[in-house]
Amino acid sequence: MSPPTPLPRAIDQGLANCEICGKITPVVACRCPRCGAALHLRKPASLQRSVALLVAACALYLPANLLPIMTISELGDVMASTILEGMVEFWHRQAYPIAIVIFVASILIPIIKIVALVWLCAAASGKVHPSPRILGRIYWFTELLGRWSMVDIFVVSILVALVQFGAYMTVTPGPGALAFAGVVVLTMFAAMSFDPRLLWDRLEIMKAAETPPPTLDHE
Ligand SMILES: [Zn+2]
Repeated sequence: MSPPTPLPRAIDQGLANCEICGKITPVVACRCPRCGAALHLRKPASLQRSVALLVAACALYLPANLLPIMTISELGDVMASTILEGMVEFWHRQAYPIAIVIFVASILIPIIKIVALVWLCAAASGKVHPSPRILGRIYWFTELLGRWSMVDIFVVSILVALVQFGAYMTVTPGPGALAFAGVVVLTMFAAMSFDPRLLWDRLEIMKAAETPPPTLDHE
């Protein structure tokens, strides 16, 4: 049985998908005839942008967790606490659900997002060679995390709201909060800059490399 003929891809036909309105147009038109947006076969410098943003997010991840995220002043007593200290404090006060939410949203989700995006960038540039099934799963999971990308910010606002106990207590955000917001925004932009079609392009290249060239039949 002869192998199935691969279906033609839009990129091979020089057709670009408008990122704004979704209209398929020949890329030579440069601009979408419907909405006027610039046309590209793939997002320009997608991998370079994503990697640069991820490196910046990694650089901010440490100060986000090591510097105080907020300073609480109570009757002249000033106390600065990091994300981890805040979480431990809630745990000691037996507010377990809040402690768990802080851990998941502020420590676990950002690190999983960064690792998943780094891995997808490595897969798109051919540094790792996963099976199509694993690649699809991890991409789906990253998309799922992306929908929850603002959860971290909500957690910080809940945290601040929770400690606004009395008139004698003031809560001010610390330098860690700025670094933390930086991590959230940078990972969000890194995910937006990443063009998932580069993953499927890489799969096509891998498939083409595995398929033996057609042999000439002289019989
Ligand atoms: Zn358009």
